[in-house]
Amino acid sequence: MNIASAKIVMPAEDIDEITRNIRLILESGRLILGPYTEAFEHALSSMHGGAHAIAVSNGTGALEIILRALGVQGRQVVVPANTFFATAAAALHAGATLRFADVGAQTMMLTLASVERAVTADTAAVVMVHIGGAISPELDAIKAFCEARGIYLAEDAAHALGSTYQGRAAGTLGAAGSFSFYPTKIVTCGEGGAIITHDAAIAREAVIHRDQGKQAFSENCHIRLGYNWRLSEIHAAVGLVQLRRLQQFITAKRAVAARYDQRIAVLDGVTPVPEGAGVRSNYHKYVVLLDAGCDRAMLRSMMQETAGIQLGTGVYDVPLHLQPVFSGMDNTGLQVAEDVCARHVCLPIHSDMTFADADRVITALAACLARLRKTAAPLVHEGDLQ
Ligand SMILES: *Cc1c(COP(=O)(O)O)cnc(C)c1O
Repeated sequence: MNIASAKIVMPAEDIDEITRNIRLILESGRLILGPYTEAFEHALSSMHGGAHAIAVSNGTGALEIILRALGVQGRQVVVPANTFFATAAAALHAGATLRFADVGAQTMMLTLASVERAVTADTAAVVMVHIGGAISPELDAIKAFCEARGIYLAEDAAHALGSTYQGRAAGTLGAAGSFSFYPTKIVTCGEGGAIITHDAAIAREAVIHRDQGKQAFSENCHIRLGYNWRLSEIHAAVGLVQLRRLQQFITAKRAVAARYDQRIAVLDGVTPVPEGAGVRSNYHKYVVLLDAGCDRAMLRSMMQETAGIQLGTGVYDVPLHLQPVFSGMDNTGLQVAEDVCARHVCLPIHSDMTFADADRVITALAACLARLRKTAAPLVHEGDLQ
């Protein structure tokens, strides 16, 4: 039996409910910005202490809208070098210039020191990215630093729906946070995104931006350079049912993560990225750092071939400053990001994995690492490798 790196879990009764609701939507003729979008937003708002929730068509758009609302145009936005392409693209599409920051070697996320080094007099916003569902333990220190400088703190919380930092929900930790409901995330709409904010002015801007910058839905008066970032009712209907599973998914993933923690503590050659003090991760990903010199590509193929276990793509295998599209940018001082990008892997984690699955992953990992250590030694003949 193969173990996939990630998996969408949609119980049959949920599929039935979604199908029934889609039928109702199609019969009603109300296909956008209707009661399902409103209910989806209401559910997100309730989960986030009554914050404003604005549903949009994807997470990239959600972050771009936040940055537009924060007025970053013509100024600089700082993002970690090891994030998804969309974090950087959103800043550029919002009209900002981009600056990459390095990250901490243990957390793979922004630190106070790396933010201090990256910001300039022109920095309008810093975007924190909650890699794998964890949150930088230095978030409060970074936030205080930003506040003292008049810099906005935004969250790309695409990985972190349901994660908390000192009891506060991801997405509510700065000026505003963006979520994604892409199929690989902890819950999905198919495609979808959302903005969460306690700031009424940002929420108002988000509603305007998502619908072509219109002052009101029924008027053709465009007061901002918005875009089509609307979510369809059909997507909202999927998300609404998925969202009810969130806590169940997190509980199941945390149990697998705890099992991994226990078993990995005695393994040579790997160090899990810790959840961090005061952080409760949703374990979107379970990230481990390999010792320097370990051949990651070989480990991935060995795990697949010998045990049917898929180590998915990383978060992220190549830092953004090494992507061709960003080749012209300043890429100095990003050594830690380069290092951690090159030597981490994500162990399989999804909400219907069993402890036996987790144990199989660890047993296979131990065997593959031992074999790689042997083959990494000099003067071993090709024929010994099998
Ligand atoms: C998925 C993701 C996004 C983009 O979300 P989409 O819904 O695919 O547009 C942005 N940032 C991060 C960190 C992501 O993982």
